[in-house]
Amino acid sequence: MTINDVSCYNEISMMPPYPIPKAAAILMTLLEDKGFEAYIIGGFVRDLLLGRFGGDIDMATNASTQQMIELFKDYPLSKIGEKLGTIGVKIMDQWIEITTYRSEGTSSNYRHPDEVRFIGSLKDDVFRRDFTINALAINIYGDLIDYTDGCIDLKKRQIKAIGHPEDRFQEDALRILRALRFSVQLGFTIEDKTSLAMIKSQDLIKTLPIERISVEFDKLIQSQHLEPLFKNYPELLKICIDFDPTHIQHIEQFSDKGLRYLCLLNHMNAEKIQNQLTHLKHPKSFVLKVSLLKILSEIKTQDRYTMKTLLGGYGKELVLLVLEYQKTLGMDGIDPLLMTELIKEDPCVSLKDLAINGDDLLKMDHQGKTIKVILNQLLELVMKDEIKNDKASLSQAVSRLS
Ligand code: ATP
Ligand code: MG
Repeated sequence: MTINDVSCYNEISMMPPYPIPKAAAILMTLLEDKGFEAYIIGGFVRDLLLGRFGGDIDMATNASTQQMIELFKDYPLSKIGEKLGTIGVKIMDQWIEITTYRSEGTSSNYRHPDEVRFIGSLKDDVFRRDFTINALAINIYGDLIDYTDGCIDLKKRQIKAIGHPEDRFQEDALRILRALRFSVQLGFTIEDKTSLAMIKSQDLIKTLPIERISVEFDKLIQSQHLEPLFKNYPELLKICIDFDPTHIQHIEQFSDKGLRYLCLLNHMNAEKIQNQLTHLKHPKSFVLKVSLLKILSEIKTQDRYTMKTLLGGYGKELVLLVLEYQKTLGMDGIDPLLMTELIKEDPCVSLKDLAINGDDLLKMDHQGKTIKVILNQLLELVMKDEIKNDKASLSQAVSRLS
């Protein structure tokens, strides 16, 4: 079934025939020339209809993985997903994933199907997919194929599970988080039955590997429309992260991901934040960043020297983020005007900013450990505005110090 009824496309940005990216067209032609079917399917089509061109391309075909490997032998291939019927093909600098039509059996661990059955038609394949808007396909002519009324749901701007929602979440609990993630990424509502089933099945999320939860949650947290989501699904989201809703109305004002996490975890001390983010498998550098932001966010000062120590100890970037955080949450913290002026001055706040270094002191007959001590004393004097940061003033000070 291809759709040519133009009324379907009100409020959908693109009209058929849809443009097929060249890389995909080459692979589709290779498959079709050998008598196979080939469609672009999933997120790429959904986004294309919403006027968002780009993103990863997924394709579906009735060719087996062995047939694909033979057909695409001149291209770099990825066979990681071969058992599940997927081959990755690198073409024109991008990886395209092509999956043999399949259906999935029941799942005993809420994530991996117990068996994958390869089947004969696109029509059967689309019903194993998660949401109607993710089951749209286009053929090489740019016609849309819509077996699940995905186009209607795109128009209604809603996420709707394909088939019986509770069963679909039992099969794979990750779909619960994908629904939330798509709803905030696209600004869509979640259809009532799908939403009820998500809440009813929310405990299944606990059975997922933490990495999977974290990847979805991380995409979610960087989207818009978060406030209603946290209000509508508090218990469900608590399973992902132990958040506090107090400042949730501010979260979207932050473009920095670290500040978004801090906003959710503001009720915890730095150590607990570290534990929570480490548990979610965030990289060490990110865990450190958010816990430092937490420590800095609790500092209240109008003192110029203290502000310089903050710049020296934490760096300008973290300090600027914390100014933004404290201002947005209306916190009484680091004086924003004084700090902004200070940053403009680009003051000396660390040994590397000093106009004198270890080599200079060596030439002045100082050595070893004393050099470090003297440099630190000079730094403190400069930061306290007691001497100027130029070589002459510093050299004079050195003779006074030693
Ligand atoms: P994104 O923009 O994040 O790439 P996407 O919809 O393309 O969104 P992918 O994870 O790339 O998501 O998956 C491609 C397609 O595979 C989906 O559109 C959907 O049809 C199907 N799919 C992915 N994950 C699942 C799942 N857990 N259950 C059922 N179908 C899925
Ligand atoms: Mg995708």
